[in-house]
Amino acid sequence: MSKNDICKNNFIRHIIEKDLISGKHNIVHTRFPPEPNGYLHIGHAKSICLNFGIAKDYNGFCNLRFDDTNPVAENIEYVQSIKKDLQWLGFEWNGAVRYASDYFDQLYQYAIELILKGLAYVDCLIPEQIRQYRGTLTLPGKNSPYRNRSIAENIKLFKKMRNGNYMEGTACLRAKIDMASPLIVMRDPVLYRIKFTEHHRTGKKWCIYPMYDFTHCISDALEGITHSLCTLEFQENRRLYDWILSNISIRIRPTQYEFARLNLTYTILSKRKLNKIIAENIVEGWDDPRMPTISGLRRRGYTAKSIREFCLRIGVTKQDSYVDISALESCLRDDLNKIAPRAMAVLNPIKVIIENMSDHNIEMISMLNHPSNPEMGTRSVPFSNQIYIDRSDFREISSKNYKRLVLGQEVRLRNAYIIKAERIEKNNNDEITIIYCTYDPNTLKKNPIDGHKVQGVIHWVSVNHALPATFYIYDHLFKLADPNTTDNLLSIMNTQSLTIMKGFVEPSLNTATSKITYQFERKGYFCIDYNRSTFTNLVFNRTVSLRETQTNSTIKY
Ligand code: ATP
Ligand code: MG
Repeated sequence: MSKNDICKNNFIRHIIEKDLISGKHNIVHTRFPPEPNGYLHIGHAKSICLNFGIAKDYNGFCNLRFDDTNPVAENIEYVQSIKKDLQWLGFEWNGAVRYASDYFDQLYQYAIELILKGLAYVDCLIPEQIRQYRGTLTLPGKNSPYRNRSIAENIKLFKKMRNGNYMEGTACLRAKIDMASPLIVMRDPVLYRIKFTEHHRTGKKWCIYPMYDFTHCISDALEGITHSLCTLEFQENRRLYDWILSNISIRIRPTQYEFARLNLTYTILSKRKLNKIIAENIVEGWDDPRMPTISGLRRRGYTAKSIREFCLRIGVTKQDSYVDISALESCLRDDLNKIAPRAMAVLNPIKVIIENMSDHNIEMISMLNHPSNPEMGTRSVPFSNQIYIDRSDFREISSKNYKRLVLGQEVRLRNAYIIKAERIEKNNNDEITIIYCTYDPNTLKKNPIDGHKVQGVIHWVSVNHALPATFYIYDHLFKLADPNTTDNLLSIMNTQSLTIMKGFVEPSLNTATSKITYQFERKGYFCIDYNRSTFTNLVFNRTVSLRETQTNSTIKY
């Protein structure tokens, strides 16, 4: 078995294979059912890769269906973003995009059918009373005084609900199941509620909207879904899913299976909470590069392939657990290391003047865009007698293991010459402003003639050719590895999640686009920020550091 096969080997695929062999199904049909009340996040990607991956591997189908039954929180912007993100991730849905709202007429007829069978009733308790009557995990619920209305009366009242004769919260349609059921979802769940809110697709046609549990199973059946995959919190709802389908006249019977949702350390994957930090202006929006949304990850420079690989590596199980965010970053590094063009950028510049090189001498040095992939070509980088290096790459006094430029010593400039630091200039604050060096003209990409070894290599950009750039360096949004333990999000935000630095990049980056993530030599992977960049100032997001341990808190500039 290949590594891919091992990762894919999960209990859901076992079920599917069994169903195909036994002939229970001869085609696999899955669906991805987002509610358009927010942008997709990395947790959704897990579900997407599972549903679309299964359809692809078994030559089946996967529908995209918007679960748009709550017009209050939903809108067309979310619909558009979800479609875009799904395609960017590399998946194509089967046929037309589906909407639960396409089925509102049919759902209404099925509700009537339940009423006619004595299996649903119009309740006039107010929501607070419904909650009280529902009971608890240890106490059974109580029957509503409206539970035994006649079928004729229920039909009449349900039509009144539909016609707008009731105010919101004064009536609802409930399934008549069992108020003493050990499963709270089976205690006469609400099937329809009143909302005088315009729907982004059906407009003012409806003032009653079906609940998720009622809508989902019927939509699955209408679309011929065979395996309806959802996360573990819907385990109990499966009883209701089956109850509804077995009590209406519908031939197709999909089966629901549950898997563990993705939880990531230092990350929140709840649209409600993500919405909150947007509303509080803690982040810029859904596509802020610190957000775990697909659009945030894309803007930050993540590749779709690395996200798919991550979803493959984490597997699919029935045990809730946390996945370390470093697992996601590691998939990203694996991909970027292979495909990212190399370039040089100085994030915290200090000027170097090479005194034994003429002012007019500009040398174009050819460099490989990728050290192990010559097919990615070369570029010419100008070298001159004034360059910037990173402040952290110079010290006045040498110390053990410090292999960069030290006063009185030599270092190699990446792909160029060996220089030696002769003396420095400081300002009134005792900060170094200029390092004066000499260079050895015989060392362009080769060792000195006398054969002595120079160990350190640092990167650089030519002062007169460099492009000004701003760098956004990110850290986790939350201080806690498990931010789900509190609802008080403000108290656990990492106030250091963004550091802005101003420096320079080599001139070849004037053609950089947000579609390419670069490796800035020794500094990490970076990608143009399409919202912040201008012609005169390039803005780069740091996608990820080069190594796992290099986080904001450990880098010293
Ligand atoms: P959230 O909790 O972020 O609001 P949701 O479950 O309400 O998410 P939906 O739009 O209803 O969001 O989700 C669409 C699909 O994605 C569902 O099938 C859901 O089970 C799945 N999904 C959502 N979050 C995760 C997650 N963290 N891991 C795996 N699958 C998820
Ligand atoms: Mg949901």
